[in-house]
Amino acid sequence: MLWFWFFPVVLWLVAPHGCVSTSARLYTEEDPLVILSSSNLKPAVTNSSSAWFLQFYSSWCGHCIQYSETWKALARDVQDWQQAVRVGVLDCAQEENFDVCKEFNIKFYPTFKYFRAHSPETERGTPYRGADREIQSVRQVMVNILQNHTQQDWPERCPPLRPYSSAELLPLLGQRSDQYTAIIVEEPDSYVGREVVLDLLQFSGVEVRRALSLDLPLLDALKITTFPSVYLLHPNGSHSHLHVQKQLRFFFSSVLRTLAGVQRRVRPSSSTAVGQGGALQDQQSAWRDFSSSEVYAADLESALHYLLRVELATHSTLQGEELQVFKDFVTLVSKLYPGGGSVVKLMETLSDWLLSLPLPRIPYQAVLDLVDNKMRISGVFLGAELRWVGCQGSRAGLRGYPCSLWTLFHVLTVQHDATPTALDNTGLEGGAAPVLQVMRRYVRTFFGCEECGRHFERAAAASLEGVQNREQQVLWLWNQHNTVNDRLAGSLSDDPLFPKAPWPSPSLCASCHDEKNGVHEWNQDNVLLFLRKHYGASNISPRYSLSPQRLPAPPSPQTGQPQEEHRGGGAEEKEKRRRARRRRRLRTTGLRGGRVVGAGSWASTAWT
Ligand SMILES: Cc1cc2nc3c(=O)[nH]c(=O)nc-3n(C[C@H](O)[C@H](O)[C@H](O)COP(=O)(O)OP(=O)(O)OC[C@H]3O[C@@H](n4cnc5c(N)ncnc54)[C@H](O)[C@@H]3O)c2cc1C
Repeated sequence: MLWFWFFPVVLWLVAPHGCVSTSARLYTEEDPLVILSSSNLKPAVTNSSSAWFLQFYSSWCGHCIQYSETWKALARDVQDWQQAVRVGVLDCAQEENFDVCKEFNIKFYPTFKYFRAHSPETERGTPYRGADREIQSVRQVMVNILQNHTQQDWPERCPPLRPYSSAELLPLLGQRSDQYTAIIVEEPDSYVGREVVLDLLQFSGVEVRRALSLDLPLLDALKITTFPSVYLLHPNGSHSHLHVQKQLRFFFSSVLRTLAGVQRRVRPSSSTAVGQGGALQDQQSAWRDFSSSEVYAADLESALHYLLRVELATHSTLQGEELQVFKDFVTLVSKLYPGGGSVVKLMETLSDWLLSLPLPRIPYQAVLDLVDNKMRISGVFLGAELRWVGCQGSRAGLRGYPCSLWTLFHVLTVQHDATPTALDNTGLEGGAAPVLQVMRRYVRTFFGCEECGRHFERAAAASLEGVQNREQQVLWLWNQHNTVNDRLAGSLSDDPLFPKAPWPSPSLCASCHDEKNGVHEWNQDNVLLFLRKHYGASNISPRYSLSPQRLPAPPSPQTGQPQEEHRGGGAEEKEKRRRARRRRRLRTTGLRGGRVVGAGSWASTAWT
C-alpha cells in the first residue's frame, strides 16, 4: 500500500527534469541525514565526536536514484543514533565536488565509506563493500563499526555496547537509583540489545544494558527463559520483567521511551517551534485527565474557536482565493464534523450564509459577528475558550492549536471515509482526496506557521496526486503526520511529556506494527482499521466540551413533537431537511438572502 506516496516520488525522480534539479532533489534538507559537500566534508569527519557512514553517489546514476529511498529509510531508522554515528551523502556529480571525490578516491557510484570517531585529517575513510545493502545489514555494520573503536577513540556520547556480566548486574537489584536500568538479555549473535541501547541514546531517565543468554547465573536470578527479554530495574529499587506484546526492537524501544520520567533530550532545531501561540491562552488552571486512546470534542472545538476567532482575524477582508478557501473549509467541516451538535449547526449556518452571499469580498468582522452574536440568539454557539484536553501541553506554548488542527483533519478524513456521500452537491466531491485538498489550501492560506505550510505544501505537491480513494486519503494524512513527527522529534516544539514518535505506538495498536528483515514495518491494513476506530465518531468524548453535543430538535410541522435529530437518510431527503433548517435558522439569526437584518457597521461596508 506504500506505493501511493512512494510511486509519485520515484516518477518525479526518473522524469526528465535535467541533471541539476534531479541531483538537488535526490536528498533534501528534510531527510534525516547530513548533506555534505566539498566545503564541509573534511571538517565534518575530522576528529569528529561521532563515527560517520557516508554514501558518495552521483545524481545521474540510476542505481543511486533507486537506492536513495533505502538510504533515507536507513537514516530515518537510525536517526536517534546520530550522537554515536551519523549518516551522510555527498553528490559527486556536482561540479563543486569533483575534486573532493577524486581526493577521497571515489571511482564508482555509489561508494560507501565509514569514518571512525576522532579520525585524523588525513583519513579518507574505509570502504564498505558488503554485497547486501539492505537496511538491517547496514545497520548491523554500523553497530560493528562502533564496537571496533578502542577505549581511546570511543565516540563520547556512545554508551557501552559490550555485554554486561551477572557479576556487574546482580548487585544492582534492589538498589535505588535516579533512573531506570533496562537489561536486555539476548543470544550472543543478536543485535537487538545494542540497537535498543542506541535507540535510547537521546533519552534521559533510562540506561539500557545488554547481557547474554550464556550467563546462567543471571538467567537463574532473573528467571529469564526466552530471548530477547527485558528486565527492568525501577528507580525505587523494585524490579520486574518488562512486558511487551512482541519481542522486537521497535516494541522494546517504544515501551522504554514511554516510561514515566523518561524524556528525550531537546536538540536545537532549525524548524520553527509551533505551539498554541497566538493571542489566546488556555484558561486552564488544573490538569485535565484524559486518555490517549480517545479524541476529545473540546480539542476540536478549541481548534475551530482559535481558527475562527484568532487565525482568521489576521485577514481583515476575505476575498478571492482566501474567500474561496474559507468557504470550502467551512462547507467541509459542516458536512463532515461528526455528531450533529451545536458545532455542526454553527458551521452549517456559516456555510449557508457564505454561499448565499454573491459578494467578492467579506469583512472578517462580519464573520465574527455572525459567529459570536447572530447565531447565539438561536442557541447555536461555539465555546469561546481554549480548552485543550488531549492537546494539553506540559507548559504554555507547547501543543495546543497545531495538535488540534491535525486532530480535526484526521477526524474529517475518517468521517469522509465513513460517509462517502456527505460531500455530494458541495462542489468538493470531484477529486479523490477532497479533505486533503481543502486542508492543503487552508494550511497554505491561513495556517499561522508559514514554514509548516511550506513543508506541507512540498509534501502535498510530491505525493497527493497519488491518492486514489478515501482509504488512501486517511492513510496519506497519517503517514504525512508521522513524517512531521519524525522531523520534529527532539526539537524545541517537542513536549517532553508527549514526545513525538511514530504513531500509533505499540501500546495503542500492537497489530499496527510488524517487522520484515529486521526492519520495522507498518501493517497498513491494521493502521487503517485503527485510524477508523480512533478518529471515528463514536470515539469522540464529549468530556470537557463547552458546546452542546445535541440541540433540541425543532418541533415537527405535522405532530408538533420534537423530531429525532439524525444524519442518515437519502441524499435528497437530507437536502430538503437541510434547506428547511437553513430557512428556520436564517429567520432566527436575522439573516436573509445574504443580508443581515438590522446589522451593525459592517453591513453598510461597501463589499463590492
Ligand atoms: C499541517 C501541519 C504542519 C506542521 N508542520 C510543522 C513544521 O514543519 N515544523 C514544526 O515545528 N511544526 C509543525 N507543525 C506542528 C507540529 O506538527 C505539532 O502539531 C506541534 O509541535 C504540536 O505537537 P504535539 O505533540 O501536540 O503532537 P501533534 O503532532 O500535533 O499530534 C497531535 C496528536 O495527533 C495524534 N497523532 C500523532 N501522530 C499521528 C499520526 N501520524 N496520525 C494520526 N494521528 C497522530 C496524537 O494523538 C497526537 O497527540 C505542523 C502542524 C500542522 C497541522
